[in-house]
Amino acid sequence: MTELLGQTLGELGETLRPFDVPSYRARQLYYEMYKRRNYEIEAMTELPKSLRAALAERWTVTALSVVSVFQSTDGTRRYLFQASGGTQIEAVWIPEADRDTICLSTQAGCPLACQFCMTGVLGWQRNLTAGEIIAQVGVVLNDQYGVGRRPARGVNLVLMGMGEPLLNYVRVMKAIRLLCDPQGMGISQRRITLSTAGVVPGIDDLAKEPIRPELAISLSATTNALRDQLIPLNKRWPLEELLAACRRYPLRRRERLTFEYVMLDGINDSDREADQLVRLLQGLRAKVNLIPYNPSPELPFRSSPMKRILQFQARVRARGIPAFIRTPRGRDIDAACGQLAARATVSCS
Ligand code: SAH
Repeated sequence: MTELLGQTLGELGETLRPFDVPSYRARQLYYEMYKRRNYEIEAMTELPKSLRAALAERWTVTALSVVSVFQSTDGTRRYLFQASGGTQIEAVWIPEADRDTICLSTQAGCPLACQFCMTGVLGWQRNLTAGEIIAQVGVVLNDQYGVGRRPARGVNLVLMGMGEPLLNYVRVMKAIRLLCDPQGMGISQRRITLSTAGVVPGIDDLAKEPIRPELAISLSATTNALRDQLIPLNKRWPLEELLAACRRYPLRRRERLTFEYVMLDGINDSDREADQLVRLLQGLRAKVNLIPYNPSPELPFRSSPMKRILQFQARVRARGIPAFIRTPRGRDIDAACGQLAARATVSCS
């Protein structure tokens, strides 16, 4: 079975060509898949029965299926999906006061092996297709609102689940263009945030895109010595090169770069490091997101205590850089990056 989701209107036209139907059928199929989030070919009653039957013989809208859903006491819902080839990936629904956020995976597993991240422990599996990235959004929205229903309020997407989005550049950008199409899912590009560990050529490519998400950089260390250890990708593109790419990145009106900083107890959370962080970000239109570490028994890290995080935040703010503390969500359902799929894999083997 081949997946239809992730195809552009032009590609759907090609797909339908052997079926010898008028060209408006491709537009109808596009509308059903992207505007209505209808993932059952049989239920696309706008299309003639014969076409539906013929299509369904070789095609499926998405092969992604929900394996399990974990509901947190704070409203966070974590979805474990089965993708083709037996791969498992995850997405998280995070309701907030004024909007909802969906955290998406871009790869199954991750090749970066950041020391503190469970997806790193899981190791590398494969890139997700554009369709698999879009399907995470569609399936979660259908679960929340029902098929064909518009979300009741704003939805933000963050590419902060499993994987390094800039190492799956072509498929991620294709997914983003389709997600942003007003004729389709109609999500605003300013409501999507892509988070990278620092793939410098990818940042430079993103700078040239006519439609592109907001950019977040996972910094988490202020010296190459420490960052080399925590985020081995730093050996390839060290801090100077990463920050140079940030400085030449063309920001839009009211856009800022977000720098994520995972707060690791006794490792990167001293006052000296707060001051060094401010020095590194000097002259950049930036904000800092301090992320309390979400621990796993498999990894030897602890979160900095809240008192330390508050002091670190105050020091950064005092020097004029906006700094926020990300509220931990879904801790009771293992809501840290990669935890769920990693656990599922461990328990299966
Ligand atoms: N590869 C990309 C996107 C996925 S990770 C990146 O590195 O940005 C998304 C964010 O989650 C990163 O900022 C990462 O540092 C953070 N993260 C990973 N494991 C975490 C954990 N256990 N607790 C808190 N944050 C974590």
